[in-house]
Amino acid sequence: MSMANKVLLIYTGGTIGMNRNPKTGALEPFDFEHLLVNVPELREFELVIDTYQFDPPIDSSDMTPARWTELSHVITDHYLDYDGFVVLHGTDTMAYTASALSYMLENLTRPVIFTGSQLPIGQLRTDGKENLITSIEIAAAKDETGHALVPEVGIYFNGHLLRGNRTTKQSAEEFNAFESFNYPHLVDAGVNITYHTDRILTPKWDKPMKPHFRLDNNVIIFSLFPGIREDLVRHIIATPNLKSIVMRTFGSGNAPQLPWVLQALREATRNGKVVINISQCMQGMVEMGRYDTGYQLQEAGVISGYDSTVESAVTKLMFLQSHYQDPEQVRELMRQSIRGEISVN
Ligand code: ASP
Repeated sequence: MSMANKVLLIYTGGTIGMNRNPKTGALEPFDFEHLLVNVPELREFELVIDTYQFDPPIDSSDMTPARWTELSHVITDHYLDYDGFVVLHGTDTMAYTASALSYMLENLTRPVIFTGSQLPIGQLRTDGKENLITSIEIAAAKDETGHALVPEVGIYFNGHLLRGNRTTKQSAEEFNAFESFNYPHLVDAGVNITYHTDRILTPKWDKPMKPHFRLDNNVIIFSLFPGIREDLVRHIIATPNLKSIVMRTFGSGNAPQLPWVLQALREATRNGKVVINISQCMQGMVEMGRYDTGYQLQEAGVISGYDSTVESAVTKLMFLQSHYQDPEQVRELMRQSIRGEISVN
């Protein structure tokens, strides 16, 4: 007799488990039991589903690197006891958490599937049930050799599984809340669940998963815009403990050709700060050699973020700078794909 697959369902909070406060009318996180009572279908799975709840559950706008470390610990502590993990999380910062976890869980051999919903699970038209049920199915799915079909950190929403560190929240309104603009879907769930195995990472199956728990959040994201002021930019760059900057540029990675912009970036690089160029466009690649305005940035020491999401770039920096003192090592690894997060190599 084969043993039933086991999935650990981790509830961090978010709309999926929220209830309306009768006094204020606002949604607030609710107890996990409430959520489970609303999905009696879970009993129909031929799986063992255990649960773990963050205490207290939070709106994901309150997510922090400390919580990411806690999540990494929960998954690591239970790693060998379960075939897969489903993390229920608010949609607002889900792409940040999924990106962070993709870096913290190295050589992942089991699925870690994030999901949530736009409407609470207790509401008639909720999208939460399908999201939850299919996420559990994906987390437990294995091939004929017994390997997980999706050994990745993914985000499942509205019929699609996306690579976590490629994903951005695109809508606060539609059920189709997420998209991975620069990487195709890993799984499409319609009448059948189609696993696009050629797009899914292959870990070293014979090696253990290597967890990481440290993050260093001395990083800032800032956007360029016509009219940006020198004094304000210089103020940010001069912050003593700041180690890196995710700079959101125009189009294919362009910036205004103001002498002070290039001068400030050159000084930042010289002072050991890592500056990553990420486009304000959701889709496409930073190509600093394409226009003179981008080329100048490259000359000033700015590193291309290629087709990275902002969420992935900022969490990758937190991860790398907690490991490497030398900014040159951080720059080097930012140029490489370490978890399938950018289209290079
Ligand atoms: N504010 C909620 C959260 O991110 C939204 C959601 O769950 O969709 O926790």
